[in-house]
Amino acid sequence: MAQTLIIGAGVSGAALAWQLSRRGEGVTIVSTHPEGGLASAASFGWLNASFYLSVPHFRLRHEGLAAHRRLAHALPGLATHWPGCLWYEATGTALDETAADLSGLGYLVERLTQAQITQRMPALGPIPDTALFFPEEGVADPAQLARALIMGSGAQVVRARVLAVTHDTGKVTGILTDLGPMVADRVILAAGTGTPELLAPLGQPLPMLKRPGLMLATNPLPPICPVILATPEQEVRQDAAGRLHAPASAGHQGDHAETLGSFPVVINATLTRLRKLFPGQEIRFARHAMALRPVPSDGLPVVGRGPVEGLWIAVMHSGATLAPVVAELLAADIAGEGESPLLADFRPERFQ
Ligand SMILES: Cc1cc2nc3c(=O)[nH]c(=O)nc-3n(C[C@H](O)[C@H](O)[C@H](O)COP(=O)(O)OP(=O)(O)OC[C@H]3O[C@@H](n4cnc5c(N)ncnc54)[C@H](O)[C@@H]3O)c2cc1C
Repeated sequence: MAQTLIIGAGVSGAALAWQLSRRGEGVTIVSTHPEGGLASAASFGWLNASFYLSVPHFRLRHEGLAAHRRLAHALPGLATHWPGCLWYEATGTALDETAADLSGLGYLVERLTQAQITQRMPALGPIPDTALFFPEEGVADPAQLARALIMGSGAQVVRARVLAVTHDTGKVTGILTDLGPMVADRVILAAGTGTPELLAPLGQPLPMLKRPGLMLATNPLPPICPVILATPEQEVRQDAAGRLHAPASAGHQGDHAETLGSFPVVINATLTRLRKLFPGQEIRFARHAMALRPVPSDGLPVVGRGPVEGLWIAVMHSGATLAPVVAELLAADIAGEGESPLLADFRPERFQ
């Protein structure tokens, strides 16, 4: 039986551990943050295919929603749920084009009138003339999902920093950590923003963008936001405890900012937008989370074989959406069950 080391305990590494352990593989996870990752612990957790950069990207994301449903079936008790998304980030002809493009790709898209929006969202202050509703979209808690997947996999977890991947005559032999060396015949790098520096000594470039993200959570409120709400200025969702969760940047998945700005300014601006969306509510700051998003330079996932035999890579933005499907497909590839065409556009070689 192959001995596999997965570097990273976020949702990407955890989903891979689960998929490989289901095939009877012995898996050990090595991670600096074994409690559910870094970006995974700060994520908005919106599961969607309405944000996409190319048709293959849409197809992978769409299959990602199905993979989440399969996971929720296999692991009862996950926080994952499917409220759908009310979307008017674009308006006018841009909204019409979004509806036409997504419908053309086979995505479920409903067109709502102002009266229908009011009916669904009575607490919403400014009501747009029209909006799209994406009923297939959902919400996960990626850190909770990661912990459940690791527990379900039975993987051993080692808290350590990986310093290097070791290899001999073109084949992986293990890793070097700050606790010492570990031997393995397979290593999977699912270390998010920590991956490029482990690949660089092996001659494999993995250019990443600098994309810090900040999430804000409010005090518990009465039920005012039954859907994922995506407006031109603000995305927001409400959890079961009544807290609003809001990224500090509008259109946060495609956010291009390299810095966050002054903390009090960013928090107050987000609270102001939330109070405008839901007038009359006592909306207060409760807590925040910050992390760098692992965004490869073309915005697309990087999934497949590494530069030496036995080394594999799984790094992605929108990993809340993508990690379960990427893990399903990559685990099948690793286990010799065949390469999925869904991953063909996302191979690491494109950066060579
Ligand atoms: C604010 C914010 C909002 C987001 N919103 C969404 C969203 O709405 N929808 C969506 O789909 N995606 C969203 N994302 C993106 C998504 O959360 C990430 O793509 C996903 O969590 C990445 O998971 P990961 O496991 O690859 O990385 P991470 O969760 O970052 O985990 C990386 C792991 O690698 C470990 N590691 C790194 N380097 C080393 C090393 N040298 N040695 C040992 N361990 C190491 C870390 O300890 C960590 O456990 C958001 C991200 C952020 C930050």
